[in-house]
Amino acid sequence: MAPPSYPVVLDLSGRRAVVVGGGPVAARRATGLVEAGAAVEVVAPWLCEELALLVADRRAVWHARDYADGDVDGAWLVHTATGDRPVDDAVAAAAEAARIWCVRADDASVSAAWTPAVARTADGLLVAVTGGGDPGRSRAVRDAVAAGLDSGTLPVRRTRRRAASGVGTVHLVGGGPGHDDLLTVRGRRLLAHADVVVVDRLAPRGVLEHLADDVEVIDCGKTPGHHQLTQDQINEVIVERARQGLDVVRLKGGDPFVLGRGGEEALACHAAGVPVDVVPGVTSVVSVPAAAGIPVTHRGITTSFALVSAHDGIEPIVDAAREPSPATTLVLLMGVRLLAQSCEALVESGRPASTPVAVVESGWTAGQRTTVGTLADIAAKAEARGVQSPAVVVVGDVVALRDRLGPFSPELP
Ligand code: SAH
Repeated sequence: MAPPSYPVVLDLSGRRAVVVGGGPVAARRATGLVEAGAAVEVVAPWLCEELALLVADRRAVWHARDYADGDVDGAWLVHTATGDRPVDDAVAAAAEAARIWCVRADDASVSAAWTPAVARTADGLLVAVTGGGDPGRSRAVRDAVAAGLDSGTLPVRRTRRRAASGVGTVHLVGGGPGHDDLLTVRGRRLLAHADVVVVDRLAPRGVLEHLADDVEVIDCGKTPGHHQLTQDQINEVIVERARQGLDVVRLKGGDPFVLGRGGEEALACHAAGVPVDVVPGVTSVVSVPAAAGIPVTHRGITTSFALVSAHDGIEPIVDAAREPSPATTLVLLMGVRLLAQSCEALVESGRPASTPVAVVESGWTAGQRTTVGTLADIAAKAEARGVQSPAVVVVGDVVALRDRLGPFSPELP
């Protein structure tokens, strides 16, 4: 049976803490104390490398000798980890007599105090676990909790709101190309903290199901030619919610800064004095071709690729085809509508009509479909198959690799 215990969290900043022992266990204890801001003194005839570094950095003071009577005097907290039972006994007895809490590394059952296994979040959440005398068990539980905190699968949202004057933060989060698990760990973690999620049509949707009921979800529902919210309205809503003290995740498809207007949203936040940060995402530019088994560069075929938006007409496509070497892979986003004109223009500007082209629709989703042809015939093939947006168009010899590499399954094994 674990002895009765009473958990408490200490503010050790500036307070004297004594570590007796010079080995790796003492080093871990001393490091934790230093990080807590304590005035750390180490008593030991020799130091392991980690402790020596701490002392060399002047983050702890070293008394280079054996433990002696009086060493714990004036301390608020003592750790003993000498590996020598009689010495640990003597330290613990001296601390007990002086009413100083002493943590023994050698034997928790006779120790007056324990240190828990700890997990923390950047915003101040602290989880401390003791394992009833089994440190391995407490670490395992701590690690499981830490993993949940990291992945955002634990409900870590603040329930106490900021003061009325507080301003929330806008996080521009890249959601990746469509599959929920291609969202970054950081993005997932921020979602778990969000009060408001402002989501685009192409952002992963499954992650929204894990949000608490009181999280506000604003769907921008952008479909081509049919904008539910204009860009100005999106900028307005993210700024206004943050000003209410709410944390906002702006969840976007792919990467926020690749044809995603994330830069504009960040500027709107700056102009309004609202803190904003960006979390990169897996962009469709490279990941959607990959889903179809097409690497955008490949040794012996090409070492470069160019991204072009086909949204604003075919001129940018022609320019992109001229500038780099003709071997450069071209990746067209928003390219379905102007596919026929784009292919004609590329042939006119010098790309061989036999250049392979792939159109990959809805990459990394259950609806993924690839249509392959050449600059001469892809438009007709795409039309015949009813190819629809969202799709990534890849132009270049790398497309042929698909026969040997792909397609890769959008599902995990
Ligand atoms: N910021 C995004 C791109 C936004 S522009 C990114 O980094 O991926 C929108 C275009 O991206 C679509 O028209 C389409 O060309 C492409 N796209 C995004 N997700 C896609 C997907 N899952 N499958 C195919 N194309 C996709």
